Amino acid sequence: MLHCDALIVGGGPAGSTCARILTRAGWDVLVLDRARFPRDKVCAGWVTPGVFRLLELDPAEYRATGLTIQTITGFRTALMGGRPVETRYPRAVSYAIRRCEFDDFLLRRSGARVRGATPLTSLERKGDGWIANDEIAARVVIGAGGHFCPVAREVRGATDVVRPVVAKEAEFPLEPGGSDAIGELPELFFCKDLEGYGWCVRKGDYLNIGLGRRDHGDLNPHIEQFMHLLEARGLARRASRVRWHGHAYLASGTGPRPLVGEGVLLAGDAAGLAYPESGEGIKPAVDSGRLAAETVIGAGGRVDREALLPYAVELRRRYPAVRPTPRPIAAVVKALGRRLLRSPTFTRHVLIDRWFLRESN
Ligand SMILES: Cc1cc2nc3c(=O)[nH]c(=O)nc-3n(C[C@H](O)[C@H](O)[C@H](O)COP(=O)(O)OP(=O)(O)OC[C@H]3O[C@@H](n4cnc5c(N)ncnc54)[C@H](O)[C@@H]3O)c2cc1C
Repeated sequence: MLHCDALIVGGGPAGSTCARILTRAGWDVLVLDRARFPRDKVCAGWVTPGVFRLLELDPAEYRATGLTIQTITGFRTALMGGRPVETRYPRAVSYAIRRCEFDDFLLRRSGARVRGATPLTSLERKGDGWIANDEIAARVVIGAGGHFCPVAREVRGATDVVRPVVAKEAEFPLEPGGSDAIGELPELFFCKDLEGYGWCVRKGDYLNIGLGRRDHGDLNPHIEQFMHLLEARGLARRASRVRWHGHAYLASGTGPRPLVGEGVLLAGDAAGLAYPESGEGIKPAVDSGRLAAETVIGAGGRVDREALLPYAVELRRRYPAVRPTPRPIAAVVKALGRRLLRSPTFTRHVLIDRWFLRESN
């Protein structure tokens, strides 16, 4: 039997952040991941400066490692096929990283023991601890295995009632002349029914394109339309030839996932924390990974549900429930929204500053 103080299932941003803080506090931590790192993750790789602050990582320090990091100083936004509005800033308002590099860097930096290529196959409560895969004994388990985290299934028991946002993405190296996209200025293309958006994010010699929607219908016609648009604009000349990867996530406040149980906490996508307007999930993952570690450390050796409950309370405060808009009001809001997307003032102050950059957070 292999013993550890904390078993973290999933080595993404939530898991590696939690692992780093626990390890620094002297905990014996084991991170289990079904993938062998470096691994890819379906994601645009857009990160706000707040992510770097929470990670206690200077973007310049990250750049100095030689890994890809694109500085972003503005956005182009439009309704699909419409005329774009350009919003520029005199400073870096975001960055674009490659998840295969970023996540591997963070996991290595955590200092924790890592077991890659090892999925969690069983989790059993034994006494006041857990036995995982019949061979790992841990006092506390942190479920950070993303949207399909097996620990989340263990904690909630039933399936999710709320349906997730579904998305498809592709990231690929650019051939010379393969794209007119500008790295500093990612583009966002909102679906005409405002149920989702596509993106085109250039990171040096790589291009990331994708589209996510919350209406659960068939994503393919939207992807098709998006590909034609990207090709017509010269943003991705190979768009219809790339391999797309699908994934899903729960927006914060829309899912009823419990966040703690006896000796167990959920963090990141496993807890369903992505911001509902933008789908940004890396920051909530890092934030919750930190908070999970701080809660466990602060509980003074206790890992029972009651001792972990402050974590759930604080997370619900930071990521509150979203009340669904009544249908008739939603229709009016959408009609207005389509017009407002043409307004540079609305785009800068509401869409980008408040909903995407969340400057006040
Ligand atoms: C198409 C798309 C685009 C996105 N773009 C952005 C963006 O640009 N910016 C942003 O902030 N957010 C974005 N997000 C959201 C973001 O990717 C996630 O919120 C974020 O990755 C969550 O981090 P995490 O650590 O919780 O989970 P993950 O990053 O998903 O990591 C979970 C880890 O758990 C492992 N795992 C899974 N199952 C098991 C198992 N059974 N046993 C062991 N290990 C397991 C996985 O291998 C993985 O390494 C996007 C999401 C999608 C779907």
